[in-house]
Amino acid sequence: MAERLTGKEVASAIKEKLKTEIASLSAQGFTPKLGIIRVGARPDDLYYEGGAKKTCASIGMVCEVFEYPENIAQVDFEKAVREINERKEINGILMFSPLPKHLKENKVRELIFPEKDVDSLTLGSAAKVFVGDKTGFPPCTPQAVMEILHYYQIPVQGKKAVVLGRSLVVGKPLAMLLLGENATVTICHSKTQDLPFVCQDAEILIAAVGRAKMVKANFVKSKQIVIDVGINEDPDNPGKYCGDVDYSDVEPIVEKITPVPGGVGSVTTAVLCKHTLMACKMQNNIC
Ligand code: NDP
Repeated sequence: MAERLTGKEVASAIKEKLKTEIASLSAQGFTPKLGIIRVGARPDDLYYEGGAKKTCASIGMVCEVFEYPENIAQVDFEKAVREINERKEINGILMFSPLPKHLKENKVRELIFPEKDVDSLTLGSAAKVFVGDKTGFPPCTPQAVMEILHYYQIPVQGKKAVVLGRSLVVGKPLAMLLLGENATVTICHSKTQDLPFVCQDAEILIAAVGRAKMVKANFVKSKQIVIDVGINEDPDNPGKYCGDVDYSDVEPIVEKITPVPGGVGSVTTAVLCKHTLMACKMQNNIC
């Protein structure tokens, strides 16, 4: 039976540390603040926003939501984002995407000040992740994967890591973070030949494909660490979520595995807060 790598445990440890640091910073007159920008009211955004607000409240971080109507004009939205940027007390900005189709998302993303870009929405942040510049923030989800590996003391250096998926939000930045910690990284995608064979060769296998239960028993072998980033509607249990890994198929074979729900997704808001705290410290020259 595989060891279950529980995200909640990792998130709790991160939040405990943040709580202590924030209390000390607040005593010095610096309370970190996260600004969340939301256009419309997509259920996924509202769900994530609720989680982020709850996490912030639990650790003493301030969180303000800036909500705009679905039909907001480009010019008005740009003005709003610029104003949020300029507000000194806001240290980190999270903007939900995708934006409604009529808005030029790439243009709006680039307006966010790099020092406040706590979820890596701008090309500048992506570049910093690419070159390993620690003043840039990686996207929260790949960083959450790294936090899980660190918390459970899973060695990365010199290990063969296979990342299934090459999106800008998860796969590519995650590959860079693993490489930054000296893993030997293979990135797979929809055109990869003989995917099960490539995945079986991994010591650390990370699935971020957005395909429910795609990773089956024939993708894995014993002694592997399997991290499942996927969040999909479960085709076998309507109304429930499942990962990209077929948990019941894979769990009996591998050494350690994250569940869905309760795995990577549980750690992302804690990482968002960690980045906002780091942003606050950098903006105020606090070591
Ligand atoms: P994308 O759809 O942007 O990317 C999916 C990637 O998987 C692409 O690179 C694609 O390849 C690859 N892929 C798709 N099908 C296959 C296949 N059959 N074989 C091999 N590769 C395939 O998804 P995201 O990266 O945004 O998200 C991935 C998963 O992670 C989703 O389930 C999403 O819900 C979840 N997620 C979870 C988060 C969390 O906090 N836990 C946060 C963000 C996402 P190609 O490039 O060739 O098309």
